[in-house]
Amino acid sequence: MNGQVYLGLGSNMGDKEENLAQAIYQIEQTGKIIVTRKSSLYITSPWGKTDQDEFLNQVIEIETEFTPLELLDVLQKIEIKLGRLRNEKWGPRVIDLDILLFGEETIALHELVIPHPHLYARLFVLIPLQEIAPQLVFPDGKGIGEVLARAAQLEDASQSIRKTENK
Ligand code: AMP
Repeated sequence: MNGQVYLGLGSNMGDKEENLAQAIYQIEQTGKIIVTRKSSLYITSPWGKTDQDEFLNQVIEIETEFTPLELLDVLQKIEIKLGRLRNEKWGPRVIDLDILLFGEETIALHELVIPHPHLYARLFVLIPLQEIAPQLVFPDGKGIGEVLARAAQLEDASQSIRKTENK
């Protein structure tokens, strides 16, 4: 078994809450991934390309026997199954599944970078991550609180994030 693995989930099309729930269902259906924690759902203003609907974001903690590349492949198949259109960078999406952290591992392949390249700068990932893993230490030795404090200083003021009551 690998160390704790954290995934970022996002949706900004259709029934967003249902899309996140379906993604988690599909992840569990692989039979090789156990979902151990789920953050609340967070409503986030769009990032990058801002003329689109708000996102619903969530972070989950999993345990898996998949290798990082196997996990990426499994998640990409789930994205396609749930109807993700891959034609527009940062455009609207039914579901976006990212590997945020994979235990202590750092990976720098063309198709897979871990920790996720945007993790250190995005509050909509760091805030739900801290909710479910307040003691988390990144592979570089920094604690989640320190990473979050730095990101809060960088973050574009137009980005808003608010927690929903749902889980
Ligand atoms: P996106 O359109 O943001 O979902 O980006 C998808 C691309 O990011 C895929 O082609 C992946 O190969 C690549 N990628 C690199 N690192 C990661 C990661 N940690 N998790 C998910 N996708 C990744």
